[in-house]
Amino acid sequence: MTAPTLIVGAGFAGSTVARELADAGHHVRVIDKRPHIAGNAFDETDAHGVLVHRYGPHIFHTNSEKVWAFLSRFTEWRPYEHRVLGVVDGKAYPFPINRDTLNQLYGLDLDEAGAAAFFERVREPREPVRSSEDVVLNSVGRDLYEKFFLNYTRKQWGMEPSQLKAGVAARIPTRTNTDDRYFTDTFQAMPLHGYTRMFENMLDHPNITVQTGVDFADVDRTAFGHVVYTGPIDAYFGHRFGALLYRSLRFAHEHLPDVVQHQPVGTVNYPNDHAYTRITEFRHLTGQQHTGTSIVREYPQAEGDPYYPIPSDDNEALFKQYEALASNEENVTFVGRLAQYRYYNMDQVVGAALVAAERLLHRS
Ligand code: FAD
Ligand code: UDP
Repeated sequence: MTAPTLIVGAGFAGSTVARELADAGHHVRVIDKRPHIAGNAFDETDAHGVLVHRYGPHIFHTNSEKVWAFLSRFTEWRPYEHRVLGVVDGKAYPFPINRDTLNQLYGLDLDEAGAAAFFERVREPREPVRSSEDVVLNSVGRDLYEKFFLNYTRKQWGMEPSQLKAGVAARIPTRTNTDDRYFTDTFQAMPLHGYTRMFENMLDHPNITVQTGVDFADVDRTAFGHVVYTGPIDAYFGHRFGALLYRSLRFAHEHLPDVVQHQPVGTVNYPNDHAYTRITEFRHLTGQQHTGTSIVREYPQAEGDPYYPIPSDDNEALFKQYEALASNEENVTFVGRLAQYRYYNMDQVVGAALVAAERLLHRS
């Protein structure tokens, strides 16, 4: 790699590859069409002085020592374990469903074995487990499915759980113990000074130049050797086979002056009420002390920025067509949630980007 590398996208995928290449002595130019770095993990201080995540709540968690070590070069951490409540018929219950959820919802007093026996009694065994409906019915049965999953999933995806691949609902465990953490990964923490600061540090290298507000379509590629592309893969190929579906969201941010705490945990899910899926209160995530509090509601929608690849059979078949084209693009690497069309968490994107960078370095 003698000519500089062009990296399209300054999110986790692009910034990780940029830093790895730069550390190995290569020159890289990172562009992003948005006016800022950090991709969907971008955070900023709102008009009231509260640190908020512009594109919805981002909670870092990983089991990967390698990813943790890499990011720890660019930030200190604030330990944080995310907790979520799900509101059903006006009452808030621990979510993911655990033993306390069952006991509170049904007025029971189950112990661990009792909770396991309960799930065994109510579950609807499915074989094979293909869809998200199968996953949930197979583990917790119809009543809990209808109370916590069915309408949330319809709202979030605009689809029936039976049309969504198993992996979507399989993100949510079912527990017979009373662990009420959303994640159980070994490493769970928030960047102490925020994500944007962590990205600034990652991109702060003499071999890296960053240009925000620049679209790939407006860049002269001939000045560059390799391209690392982290945007939507169908857009790269001019939507040749038709548009891949991505789910979008509208984020409604609100500041509540003189409210010390709006809700008891970081996120409250509303499976059956409202047009939004959940409310997140940032102070839980960041630990920031303030006289007021800032929250965000997420309204799912079809149109808008692409946030989620939609894991259905049809979309994955269409993605495969684009993936085949991508594998024939000699000097382009496709990496990240939009380019690989995978429902990746942040740590998985970093993991994929570290692998992509290593491959690139070994080619040169
Ligand atoms: P992105 O962050 O999307 O970055 C791609 C960048 O490419 C964008 O900034 C875009 O502007 C730019 N780009 C695209 N096309 C072009 C172009 N033509 N020219 C120039 N630039 C272009 N993960 C977790 O681990 N924990 C969480 O709690 C969590 N919460 C989430 C909540 C929400 C609401 C969403 C939407 C995602 C969440 N994620 C979470 C997932 C996380 O956001 C992603 O895994 C991660 O940000 C993806 O990084 P990326 O670099 O692949 O993509
Ligand atoms: N889900 C649900 N009810 C909930 C929370 C999640 O039905 O209260 C389902 C829904 O289909 C959702 C998926 O589980 O899209 C994954 O949830 P997660 O919280 O991991 O979604 P993300 O944070 O990625 O939006």
